[in-house]
Amino acid sequence: MQVVFVGGASQVGASCLAIELAGQWLIVDAGVRVDRKSDPLPDLALLEGKDVCAIFVTHAHADHIGALPLLHQAFPTAPILTSRGTKLLMEVMLADAIKIMTRRAVEEMELPLYPDSLVAGMLNQVRPLPVGQPTTLPMLPGVTIHASRAGHIAGAVSLGFVAADGSIVVSGDISLTPQRTVLGAVPPSVDRCDLLVLESTYGARLHPNRQAEELRLAQAVTDGLSRGGHVLIPCFGLGRGQEVLLLLHAAQEKGQIPEFPIFVDGLVRRVCSTYLLLPEALSPVLQRQIRKGYLPFSGPNVTFVRDERDRKRILSGPPACILSSSGMLTGGPSAWYATQLAPQAEASILITGYQDEESPGKRLLDLAEQKSSTLDLAGTTIEVSCQVAKYSLSAHADGGELAGYAAALKPKHVALVHGDEDARTALRTLLVGTEVMLPANGSTIRLREGKAHRLNAAGKAVALPTLPTGIGAGRPFAWEHVEELWQAVAHVPTLRIVTARELALVWYGEVTEITTKSILDVLDEDYEQRCFVRQHTIEEAYRVRGQEEEQPTDFLSELVGQVLLLQVTFESAKPALCRAIEPIASVRVLFPKGVSSERTKYPYSAVLDLLGPLPREQLEMEGTSPAVFLGEVMRSARRIRKNLTARWLAEQCKEGATYTLGDLCTLAGVSARSLDTRLAVAKLINRSPQLFMQQQSVFEGEGLSLYALAPEWREALEEPEQQERPDQHWILSIIEQHIGTPHDLYRRSVDPDTGDVTLAFHFPEVAHERYADSLTAAAKEAGVDITLAPNAHQGALAQIAIRCVPQVLAVQGSPSIFHEQHALQLYCTGQVSPEAIAEAQAQFYEATRWNLAIIGATVSTQDTPARSQESQQSGQQQVDEAPQATEPLSQYDALQVAQHLLGSLPGFVKVGAEVATLTLLLRFHFPDVAKVRYAEQFAELSSQTGWQVRVHPLTAHHEALIAMARHVLPPGLTCADTPSLYHGQRKVSVLCKGTASAEAMHEARQHFEEETGWKLTLRCS
Ligand SMILES: [Zn+2]
Ligand SMILES: [Zn+2]
Repeated sequence: MQVVFVGGASQVGASCLAIELAGQWLIVDAGVRVDRKSDPLPDLALLEGKDVCAIFVTHAHADHIGALPLLHQAFPTAPILTSRGTKLLMEVMLADAIKIMTRRAVEEMELPLYPDSLVAGMLNQVRPLPVGQPTTLPMLPGVTIHASRAGHIAGAVSLGFVAADGSIVVSGDISLTPQRTVLGAVPPSVDRCDLLVLESTYGARLHPNRQAEELRLAQAVTDGLSRGGHVLIPCFGLGRGQEVLLLLHAAQEKGQIPEFPIFVDGLVRRVCSTYLLLPEALSPVLQRQIRKGYLPFSGPNVTFVRDERDRKRILSGPPACILSSSGMLTGGPSAWYATQLAPQAEASILITGYQDEESPGKRLLDLAEQKSSTLDLAGTTIEVSCQVAKYSLSAHADGGELAGYAAALKPKHVALVHGDEDARTALRTLLVGTEVMLPANGSTIRLREGKAHRLNAAGKAVALPTLPTGIGAGRPFAWEHVEELWQAVAHVPTLRIVTARELALVWYGEVTEITTKSILDVLDEDYEQRCFVRQHTIEEAYRVRGQEEEQPTDFLSELVGQVLLLQVTFESAKPALCRAIEPIASVRVLFPKGVSSERTKYPYSAVLDLLGPLPREQLEMEGTSPAVFLGEVMRSARRIRKNLTARWLAEQCKEGATYTLGDLCTLAGVSARSLDTRLAVAKLINRSPQLFMQQQSVFEGEGLSLYALAPEWREALEEPEQQERPDQHWILSIIEQHIGTPHDLYRRSVDPDTGDVTLAFHFPEVAHERYADSLTAAAKEAGVDITLAPNAHQGALAQIAIRCVPQVLAVQGSPSIFHEQHALQLYCTGQVSPEAIAEAQAQFYEATRWNLAIIGATVSTQDTPARSQESQQSGQQQVDEAPQATEPLSQYDALQVAQHLLGSLPGFVKVGAEVATLTLLLRFHFPDVAKVRYAEQFAELSSQTGWQVRVHPLTAHHEALIAMARHVLPPGLTCADTPSLYHGQRKVSVLCKGTASAEAMHEARQHFEEETGWKLTLRCS
């Protein structure tokens, strides 16, 4: 067994180890030095001639991965093994490294270390390594590998290698103290470790109490802001940035510091997004939050900075806290912020981590002692007047902790690396019972143990399956291959997330822009993502469905931002936007505009299906609110649904087959990926339980519900089709929102089949003028037709007409209504001026848009008090002695009295006057009955008016007869059709449905005869 210290032995940076074990070479890490004064790379020439079988990576910091692309170039077939978390973070970090290198190449004529095609090729060689579980690899026979959690940052591992000729543990960067993002390190379980390669960054230090230090930093930010200046916290994008963000967050939440805006910039921001994809690498608290759909790095005070314009706006705005990479001010937005803020006395720069000797961050700290001096930063010399302070929030173990870690492993030898001379020498004194070496870069350690070693872990070593390559065998990737591709990757246990590039490698055997795009294009068509679930936070990455370690709740975070079909009440399902996942298995939702529900929180069991993501960006661009948008989706779906039938759809399905909502949409001939068509089909099938059943719910199926034909679907097809009932209450509530509850709206009817609405207003023309626009809007919102009943309300017309008639006129009888002409005719007596008539007509028209005709009155231009001639002559007497008329009253007055005495009698229709014979002619619905029943009132009328009284002999009123016939029917009987009238026999005959006792029928007949003078025959069908 031998170990070559290729880089990073006597300093922090460019870490690289080559290990020979069981006759094979493997490499751990290949980083760069960020400090640009010295050679940035490890001495890769030392690897020449060595047959490297595998490359291992401890974590994704640049000092451990920056040179990986070059190592890959040298050993293109060697697989690169690391935790999944590190793998995903490497992609972000290397993309950032390339960006920085390209910029330097342009600005400073430096050549980039490697082209980005090399990075892409290197990333394609990365294979996931299980953490906490011993593993063997086909390319490294005879070696058992144990990766264990290293603390430090997400995804970081320590590595144990055990073979017959020796065992070695490489600690990588470790932190024993639990942090906010990750738990502390656990050493690999290697029994009798021959060599421990231990980091020693802070070997010479004891860390202050972490909690106290965190609070001190939070307080410093608060103080800085209250001085009226901005506070910049330069931090490493990966690890420190997330820690600082969470600690400020927590201090604000606990009320330890006030609320203030926090801006997150540079790599910090991108890493925050990536952390959401690797919950298993984070602390249990974050893990739970992310799995439940919370976003721990977001919050009301947190803003992610996008570009330079944002940055300028922040600095010209009110005091705020800025978290930005890089941590040592060597580049990234933090260097730019620092050049702006350093000259400002009220601003603060708070340093939180390791500073390289040569870094601007370190020089800034040195200057802080002397105050007011100059600093070379980002190519310019600037005056430093701002506050500068340092806070120790290390992600590295201190001397005591490192010694404890070593003691736990009881190694025979320890090689201290990753630390300066002071740190390594100090740490050396803390290690007891072992031989400690301080190797130089380029040196080699050889150990001849020759004894068999084994892992002390209980579990047996498990072979790590690797991703196959080139399974497509030359076939272009197409829709029908998705499942085959999924089969090929689903068995790799740690592969929860795959990138499009990885999938391209699996299918085509090579990764090019074209092969990657072909994968992306095909999977883009897979709206429901049956096999691969798109990740919203990382582009071109997919979650692999059906992984064994998948928790039933793992996909929950993906529900937020999706439109769900929600069972709101027993009868009604509505689309709703999922806003959050809440404790106790429930979702918080937003309903479409117009849907009123007191609840916004529903249990998972209420979620019927997933309709798809809300097109948030599009809505933001259009300025449409999600609620309004959902309302439109609902209306559109209702229209689509009118053309679909569940039974037709059922007939297109095969028995025994399962269908996703998208499959059913395709069968129905509508889009499988648009929200409105999906809603239409989802409602259709959910309302047809006799035809369709849900075989797997959203939650059983990781967000993918499956449908099949219901067991009795054939029988159900025989039954007459039940039309789906529109939600009448909802439709009416929308109308009410638009027009309120006008007093002249006397009937609202909703067609139970179509949902179309007819509104009956007293005066449709008036209503049209008043509400046309509001009703158009309501119709659009509810997705139904709204029409106005065409006819005016007769009673209301008459009422208004009588109110409009000049007071001097007496209205005789009921008005005549001519619907076609929109005219109402009133018979009046008395004398009136043409102006008064015109005014009455204008008033009437104004109120009803109908015309008023007044007939019978004497129209005189004479401006006289309105009385007939007779009344003028006998006015005095009439007023005083009307009740005892010795002389007949005038026609007008006689009619008034008649109206007064008889107007309220049942069956009274009207009274007329035959002036020639001084006779009042009375009309009743049932004249025969009236003659008998009201004889007394007639006598009274005659005596009061001096006129004769006669009941008009016309036959009984038809409609009144029929209405009375219906009215008297005993309970239990209804009319089967329109009653027939037999005039000769003065008889009404009714065909009845139902049953009633003979007694009740007899009573009805008697009652009818009493009321009308006619006979009633009841025939039962
Ligand atoms: Zn590190
Ligand atoms: Zn490091």
